[in-house]
Amino acid sequence: DEMSSKPFVLLVPSPGMGHLIPFLELANCLVAHHNFQATVVVVSSNTSPAQSQAIQSATTPKLFDIIELPPLDTTSSQVNAAGSVFTQLPAIMLEARSSLRSAISAMKLKPAAMIVDLFGISVLPVADEFQMLKYVRVSCAWPLALLLYAPILDKEVEGEYLDQKEPLKIPGCKPVRPEDVVKPMMNRKDPEYESFIRIGSEIGVMSDGILVNTWEDLEPTSLKAMREDPEWKQILKVPVYTFGPMIRPGGSSSPRGEVLGWLDMQPNASVIYISFGSGGVLSADQITEMAWGLEFSSQRFIWVVHPPSKDGDKGNDISAYLPQGFMARTHDKGLVVTTWAPQMEILAHSSVGGFLSHCGWNSSLESIMNGVPMITWPLYAEQKMVATMLVEELKVAIRSKVLPAKRVVGREEIEMMVRMIVEEKEGDEMRGRAKELKKSGETALSEGGSSFNTLSELAKLCEINTQRQKVGST
Ligand code: UDP
Repeated sequence: DEMSSKPFVLLVPSPGMGHLIPFLELANCLVAHHNFQATVVVVSSNTSPAQSQAIQSATTPKLFDIIELPPLDTTSSQVNAAGSVFTQLPAIMLEARSSLRSAISAMKLKPAAMIVDLFGISVLPVADEFQMLKYVRVSCAWPLALLLYAPILDKEVEGEYLDQKEPLKIPGCKPVRPEDVVKPMMNRKDPEYESFIRIGSEIGVMSDGILVNTWEDLEPTSLKAMREDPEWKQILKVPVYTFGPMIRPGGSSSPRGEVLGWLDMQPNASVIYISFGSGGVLSADQITEMAWGLEFSSQRFIWVVHPPSKDGDKGNDISAYLPQGFMARTHDKGLVVTTWAPQMEILAHSSVGGFLSHCGWNSSLESIMNGVPMITWPLYAEQKMVATMLVEELKVAIRSKVLPAKRVVGREEIEMMVRMIVEEKEGDEMRGRAKELKKSGETALSEGGSSFNTLSELAKLCEINTQRQKVGST
């Protein structure tokens, strides 16, 4: 019948909203633009309201199926161990293996391929049992190169990476400044480092390919290196595919709500938007400096701010952490948002002139795809590498003299950076470059573009594999 002739792919993200949402988007895109059939498998020990809502909105209209695996037995010490995503999530995925196997067994039609994220490599052997193709989805290419090359650095580099005097060399790629290394490489004695190295060495062996949410013209150097550099031929034996920029659809939102309604009344490209993603928080001191910096800059702003993590001893009311009178004095210039902000709609709004961002990959793509220049404020994960890329290679962002993760950035510097992005020529130039990148991203996604072609190729590979599975099962 019609259904069974479509390439059928199973998407298995690791637990957490940040991992689930991009897979829901990918499923939507595969079905809507590439004639796939898709099922997303939700692995989690408890379903949060936010998660239900994300699923609800990604499946309206309903283009693909969702299967929720039964809650996991979380008594296993590995799963319960406090720790980083790199130690916890792979353990959870390992636990989910048998229920995933049962779920696939129960499917009348067998999927041709399985797509997991970095933390789900341990479930790929289940795909093997059903003769499925196996792909790993990652965010961007340069940090991927570091991950894949880390097992070699592990042998070659002595002492902590942070203490190295020279940048870390990765064949064919931009070297990585020691202070920019990803979070799991910051302490070689931490168990998450071991897990990171293991994942780095397993992807290229256990999968049939890596799917990267980037596009050819955004990261040409790293992509070319991983595919063509003779040294890489020894390290990476599977293809690296690009399918991005895949971001959540924005659309115009109505009712407008407080934030968008306010933006509607501001002049063109006059507002700086400040946000640190779903998990980023500043210290109490940094919140104070940010507030003064914004006020001194006299620019309009939308600031998504949450109580500080460690030194937040004044409760949950954000005004307790802001300089006295700040809200009243900046009343006509800015908005302080303490809940979830409609980021896509904000960045798409013509009144927004800049984005002070923690450089999560989604935020970075959303900014570029709306032609908005950035002030980089990396905090953790691979954000420091992304920040460096945005500033030094793509030239769509500026940054503070010293990394915000290292010390508090002072009010004068914040004031200067905000003015530079919103008011001055540098900002206009960066806006121009961001708009060029936006165009090249759109080209990659449109019919015949590199990312479009990747997903068409994936469809073909799935179709071929479906034939192979049929032969295998008779
Ligand atoms: N986001 C949002 N409102 C907020 C904070 C975040 O809509 O108040 C969205 C943002 O648009 C992006 C995602 O959450 O799509 C954050 O992803 P990113 O990779 O930038 O950072 P992470 O949260 O993973 O650190």
